[in-house]
Amino acid sequence: SPHIGVLALQGAFREHRQRFEALGARVTEVRLPRDLAGLQGLVLPGGESTTIARLMGEYRLWEPVRDFYASGGALWGTCAGAILLAREVHGAPPQFGGHQDSLGVMDLTVRRNAFGRQVDSFHTPLKVQGFEEPFPAVFIRAPVIERAGDSQRSAEEAVEVLAHHRGRVVLARQGRLLASSFHPELTPDVRLHALFLEMATAVPA
Ligand code: GLN
Repeated sequence: SPHIGVLALQGAFREHRQRFEALGARVTEVRLPRDLAGLQGLVLPGGESTTIARLMGEYRLWEPVRDFYASGGALWGTCAGAILLAREVHGAPPQFGGHQDSLGVMDLTVRRNAFGRQVDSFHTPLKVQGFEEPFPAVFIRAPVIERAGDSQRSAEEAVEVLAHHRGRVVLARQGRLLASSFHPELTPDVRLHALFLEMATAVPA
């Protein structure tokens, strides 16, 4: 069975674990670089991206996670996790000089807390490319993807936009990378977890 890691420093990692286990995957909670050994995919969960980024520094995880991806692993960032995948992050808090550390592996520009305070959290049925029925998407102080691909790096795989909400990109895929603004682990629907298992176990062409 596939072996998936869930970064377990802060945020909604237990729910991801349950969804993958329901699909028959083996799940390891990742806190240290050595926990990455033998994984096919790693999830960066929702939570607070500045906190997760700080803890990734303390646990010396930045380079090991980049190496994990470079050596063929799949990555999925949900909400705060999507922020951590992005090449460019807008809207970081002023106390951090507006700067947000990220892995920078996915060709996205992400804006934090982009739906505004008056709509802190909401859920909505989302039309997802390739899914017949709408996906029940839970948004919590969610980021949006302001730019998806198009960085004109011809060596890179193209970014596919898989869902929009009110004209803004909220789900995108680039090869072995998946980014969602919302929290698929907070609903019983496992279709995105199943998609990620496929991505993580696909044999490269
Ligand atoms: N607003 C959070 C951040 O910017 C993300 C919220 C979430 O993951 N639900 O890190």
